[in-house]
Amino acid sequence: MHISEIFNRNPIAYSYELFPPKSKEAAEQLFATISDLSPLELAYVSVTYGAGGSTRNLTHDLVVRIQEETDLPVVSHLTCVGSTRDEIKSILDTYSASGIDNILALRGDPPQGQGPFEPVDGGFRYAAELVEFIRKHQPQMGIGVAGFPEGHPETPNRLHEIDHLKAKVDAGADYICTQLFFDNNEFYDFCERCELAGIRVPIVAGIAPITSVKLLKRMAEVSAGTRFPARLIKAMQRAENEEHQAKVGIHWATEQVRDLIDHNTKGIHLYTLNKSNATRQIYDSLGVTTTRGLV
Ligand code: FAD
Repeated sequence: MHISEIFNRNPIAYSYELFPPKSKEAAEQLFATISDLSPLELAYVSVTYGAGGSTRNLTHDLVVRIQEETDLPVVSHLTCVGSTRDEIKSILDTYSASGIDNILALRGDPPQGQGPFEPVDGGFRYAAELVEFIRKHQPQMGIGVAGFPEGHPETPNRLHEIDHLKAKVDAGADYICTQLFFDNNEFYDFCERCELAGIRVPIVAGIAPITSVKLLKRMAEVSAGTRFPARLIKAMQRAENEEHQAKVGIHWATEQVRDLIDHNTKGIHLYTLNKSNATRQIYDSLGVTTTRGLV
């Protein structure tokens, strides 16, 4: 199903993110997660593309398996890292032949320790070029792009940053999914700045339930631009053990989601890290049981 239809059908499109498993056991665990979340009837799931394009085949295989074994619509992430235009074209052809309807088009980052991003010869420098390329070669595809409510580190000029985001939308993106954030005011301000720039596509809020101090530190390593509010850090540090830290983090994320629903946010995307527990608890305590809204 095309992503635009998903947004049209659902007053709020609730979705979640998975990453491709690296072992058979992890794959079974992942499908147990999908099964645990299925009673929620969430609107779609997205599957990441490993840093530096490292999971190219695993991403494709997982997306195809989800399509075959569930009725969940899937968005497949795709990055420009390490691929020429011809390689991207062949990936897109394979996706299309496998019935993949939606792509989250990203620039991607180089593998850790390799310095700033440089495109390969014949590759793309910015995600906007990838969006344009997908629109030309697979015009039927639904396309999402990344947005950064608290800014992307490579663009200190916050006005230019929105111009770059607008370029991705003008190139043909159907929606924006944001980097994770912990302060909803940053998201609401971002949405307003998008509106001022003439960006009219749905903006999906990226929310990460932080279930331990260890995870908080790991997220800070990998989430470019995200600010961790002192109030959240204090609350996590006060918690006596991981069980209590999980309660604090899930409560924080639940309050964020409740507030986003109250603000008529078009989509809410949970970064699940392949686990179902936090997502279940958030939606159970909010009474959200279907894609069609609240009970
Ligand atoms: P771009 O939109 O190309 O932006 C990159 C930088 O270049 C920004 O600072 C932008 O402002 C600047 N820029 C853009 N256009 C111009 C221009 N014309 N002139 C000057 N500067 C410009 N990474 C993965 O490897 N795999 C994933 O699966 C993945 N999934 C993600 C999902 C989401 C929702 C998000 C938010 C990020 C994800 N990432 C993923 C990380 C992402 O690839 C990186 O954050 C990357 O650094 C930025 O990608 P982008 O698509 O926003 O790039």
